[in-house]
Amino acid sequence: MKYQIRKIALLAALLLSLLAGCTMPEEDAPNIYPAPPPFDFSGKVELSLVAAGDNLIHAPIYRQAKERAGGSGFDFTAAYQPISGIIADADLAYINQETPLGGTELGLGNYPLFNSPQELGTHLVNMGFNLISQANNHVLDAGKQGFYNTISFWRAQPDVIMAGAVANAADDVIQVLECQDVKIALLAYTYGTNGLALPASAEGSVKYIDDDLMIAELAAAQEQADIVLVSMHWGVEYQARPNDEQRRLAQLLADNGADVIIGTHPHVLQTAEMLTAADGREVPVFYSLGNFISAQDQPATMLGGLAEVDMTYNEADGSLDIDRMAVLPVVTHYTGHYDNITIYPLSTYTAEQAAAHGIRSKHSFSREYLVQLFDERIPAELQDRRTDF
Ligand SMILES: [Zn+2]
Repeated sequence: MKYQIRKIALLAALLLSLLAGCTMPEEDAPNIYPAPPPFDFSGKVELSLVAAGDNLIHAPIYRQAKERAGGSGFDFTAAYQPISGIIADADLAYINQETPLGGTELGLGNYPLFNSPQELGTHLVNMGFNLISQANNHVLDAGKQGFYNTISFWRAQPDVIMAGAVANAADDVIQVLECQDVKIALLAYTYGTNGLALPASAEGSVKYIDDDLMIAELAAAQEQADIVLVSMHWGVEYQARPNDEQRRLAQLLADNGADVIIGTHPHVLQTAEMLTAADGREVPVFYSLGNFISAQDQPATMLGGLAEVDMTYNEADGSLDIDRMAVLPVVTHYTGHYDNITIYPLSTYTAEQAAAHGIRSKHSFSREYLVQLFDERIPAELQDRRTDF
């Protein structure tokens, strides 16, 4: 009897987690009575991850969103619309939020000191992003208040975790999201913050790349979660290939328990590969996903990648199978002088659109160029070439 009650309680808890999608771990389950289970007892949980690169919000992007909202508030829908289905379809959706969400009250900012409206974050959440990194070189651009505003914005979002920036000692905990009863931890680190630092008296910190810190947090994350994702803001801007330090860090992370490694910062796409960890696990690493969206003006920065990982978590032994890893190419498109900035999947982006790209006022640019660049950067077996969006 006791065993049966426990079994029913467990089943109810499992069902609740299924019904709710991905959630923050909770102490008490709400008191509701779900319908009979469509439940899979195989003990295998399939999860899909999509990861986007640098969400680099230059002034034209928020100005266009403001215009679309009719002058008050911001509507970012059009900028992301062509790729929004890909994000919505994934169980886990990661993004590097390259600019702080200090909010309009601090005054919005463009390069080199960015500050973005919090409505941007709300739009990302509505699209389905639930794993956010704020560990990047721009996180302190809007000062101490911008930093704290960014953290409190993300902490207030239900079923979304943000890693890489902490408000104080109590906030410095491993960030864990629960998805179909599997716990996913996100760790995030940056090489630096453009010479900016929090005042010595201020609470909180940015997570900087540091072997000892990463090894310690990987150990803690493995204790608290079933799958550990690591976001790295690293490498050298505009470099076609990862450098030796990126490769060394990737192997170190894999050997110390990372399950998937997502790289950002160079603003261009770099290669991806499957590493073998010291214990034999297969660990996908994406060295740089390039820009998700931006108003940059170099042709190579218009091509980004969405990392895709399909995985199966085996509840019986806690192991993780990587069923598939791939990169789906995306293009930042604009006309004129940064007008109508929009992300498209490369597979549906036409030669005519490329011929009308605003970047052509300064550079040669074509769809063929983007296809060649993608072929150069991402091995053929890792290319996602689907066209059905
Ligand atoms: Zn960066």
